[in-house]
Amino acid sequence: MAQLIDGKALAARIRAELKGKVARLRQERGIVPGLAVLRVGEDPASKIYVTGKKKAAEEIGFNSWEHHLDEKISQPEVLHLIAALNDDAQVHGMLVQLPLPKHLDPDPLIMAVKAEKDADGLHPVNAGRLMLGQRAVQACTPRGIMRLLEEAGVSPAGKRAVVVGRSNIVGKPMALMLLAADATVTLCHRKSDLRAEVERADILVVAAGVPELVKGAWVKPGATVIDVGMNRKPDGKLVGDVEFAAAAERAAFITPVPGGVGPMTIAMLMQNTYDAAARAGR
Ligand code: NAP
Repeated sequence: MAQLIDGKALAARIRAELKGKVARLRQERGIVPGLAVLRVGEDPASKIYVTGKKKAAEEIGFNSWEHHLDEKISQPEVLHLIAALNDDAQVHGMLVQLPLPKHLDPDPLIMAVKAEKDADGLHPVNAGRLMLGQRAVQACTPRGIMRLLEEAGVSPAGKRAVVVGRSNIVGKPMALMLLAADATVTLCHRKSDLRAEVERADILVVAAGVPELVKGAWVKPGATVIDVGMNRKPDGKLVGDVEFAAAAERAAFITPVPGGVGPMTIAMLMQNTYDAAARAGR
């Protein structure tokens, strides 16, 4: 049976460490990290995510602001707010919660956030720096996954890593981080021969958004399985993108859903904001 990689426990430890660092930053340099979150309209999932982020930020001693904007707000009005937050020295990290209402175009909004205040690590400058192997604000979910691998004692160097899903938020930055850590990386999508690729993976990261897409029987014995998927079944149960029980019989390490990747994403958002505050004025 695979050993569980407990993301909930690791995330709690990281948040506790950050709390201590925040207290020291305040004492020694008079800086209080500040996170501003822009939420537009009434998407119910976004409301839950933003509440979670705000709570985590406040618990570790950040200043935290939620700008809840009207569903009908115009693109120039959102850009205007982002410009004001860029100029606000109290704000070290900022994010625009996605998805946005249809009439708003997310790309120019993300682009408008100053790259050094981009708490989500999604700004094209940060994505480009990651690709070039330069220091960047890293996307939260893959950054959290790298920490999970470290926690499990799994070094990517020399391993065959397979990433399922090529989104800008998870799959692509994940592939680049694993590559930077010297894995041999394959990035899969809908046209890939999924089973054949998964069967070769020493490290498997699945972020497709399809419940139990990856069958347990495909998992290479001794592999490390990281399940990013969060899918709500009709009975309300949360399942990942991997058939958990069958995969756990073959893998050496596996993340649970929930309690694996999810808590790490929020912890890394806090880490990115702390890092930005610690860099401020240097
Ligand atoms: P996304 O933007 O919808 O991208 C999904 C990717 O999966 C696409 O590249 C797609 O391929 C690929 N895919 C879909 N069906 C596939 C199939 N049958 N075979 C192979 N590839 C397939 O998704 P995302 O934003 O990365 O999110 C993915 C999942 O992770 C969702 O369940 C989301 O809720 C979850 N998530 C969790 C966290 C967390 O913190 N736990 C954070 C972010 C996302 P194509 O490019 O060919 O369409």
